[in-house]
Amino acid sequence: MNLHEYQAKELLYAYDVPVQKGIAVDTVDAAVAAAESLTAQTGTKWHVVKAQIHAGGRGKGGGVKLAKNLEELREKANQILGMTLVTPQTGPKGKVVHKILIAEDVYAPGASEPKEFYMSILLDRSSGKNVIIYSTEGGMDIEEVAEKTPHLVHKTYVHPNLGLQAFQQREIAYNLGLSGKAFKAMTKFVDNLYKAYLGVDASLVEINPVLKTSDDGIIAVDAKVSIDGNALYRHPAIEAMRDLNEEDPTEVEAGKYNLNFVKLDGNVGCMVNGAGLAMATMDIIKLSGGEPANFLDVGGTANAQTVEAGFRIILQDPNVKAILVNIFGGIVRCDRVAQGIVDAYQNIGEINVPIIVRLQGTNAKEAKELIDASGLKVHSVILLKEAAEKVKEVLG
Ligand code: GDP
Ligand code: MN
Repeated sequence: MNLHEYQAKELLYAYDVPVQKGIAVDTVDAAVAAAESLTAQTGTKWHVVKAQIHAGGRGKGGGVKLAKNLEELREKANQILGMTLVTPQTGPKGKVVHKILIAEDVYAPGASEPKEFYMSILLDRSSGKNVIIYSTEGGMDIEEVAEKTPHLVHKTYVHPNLGLQAFQQREIAYNLGLSGKAFKAMTKFVDNLYKAYLGVDASLVEINPVLKTSDDGIIAVDAKVSIDGNALYRHPAIEAMRDLNEEDPTEVEAGKYNLNFVKLDGNVGCMVNGAGLAMATMDIIKLSGGEPANFLDVGGTANAQTVEAGFRIILQDPNVKAILVNIFGGIVRCDRVAQGIVDAYQNIGEINVPIIVRLQGTNAKEAKELIDASGLKVHSVILLKEAAEKVKEVLG
């Protein structure tokens, strides 16, 4: 599950990770009040207005703006609230901004020059260890840094039993070119950031930029935190932070029925049990000249209700010109699924797109008989090759 920047900063702050202070608001008046309160708390003269959407690159899209007085703040808050923000990560449709974060300006000049770094923590599956990735090249696109100047991206692997060692924290601060107070602050920062990563069961913590301030403090200016969905039951307070505005409505609906659904842009809807089979089915659709309209894994326990819910969700998409059902009856019995399809067909009423059903495995023969006898406009096939040919045929 993804979080907003302001929520991620709240979680990090609870682990004593220093963060740029801010207040999330959803009106312009509240933005002004927030700015006044931040000035009272921190003495900041300037403020940053930051769009809260689940995507990075906001600065590039005009979603992060500096305000040098309350008038400017009002103007920028007004601009950003409600705007459709397009960034390199939102896709061309962009995302509507419902909330903004009013934050203290942390780039104020002082004894030393502020400097931006990059830092993220995630699981490296090939080594089976958490890895801390960091770079002196902060504030910019890290993929680009990795491509053009790979020697500037460092990695520290954390031993699962020993945890992040003090020498590793010092090595990180050293590689970032720090000394004195900032060096010490960095060791503490990465220590607490790693504790936060473990504590909230994150699958990713990415701080870009981490800032060395002009008074040699180290703070998180931006924060992206994704929580491992399988661990959410341990964190009801984090689960409550979920923002459905940021998620595809059909994906939310599918989640209610425990269906793994991902909306895509093609014309052939598919309903499959098992993620591997679902991916193979999408390949078959492509090979036969179609484009998958979705990924849908109905899971190992597909029954009449899940099949019906699956159909309803697929049919919400006006681009769908055909539906391919590809179920392997291992735990589920094919005749049960077939009955589910027949029932769904009747309950939903008029289904105007051709349905191609391939049921293979336990009771496949009975299933085919059931569908053939139902008199519905459902093509049933046994072989995947036949299914692919049927898809091609109905797409014309
Ligand atoms: P992103 O574009 O979505 O990654 O959003 P960030 O939170 O990383 O902000 C983008 C950029 O805004 C940062 O890299 C900074 O250069 C700038 N920025 C953020 N906070 C401040 C601030 O307090 N003062 C100033 N002057 N610039 C800031
Ligand atoms: Mn950023």
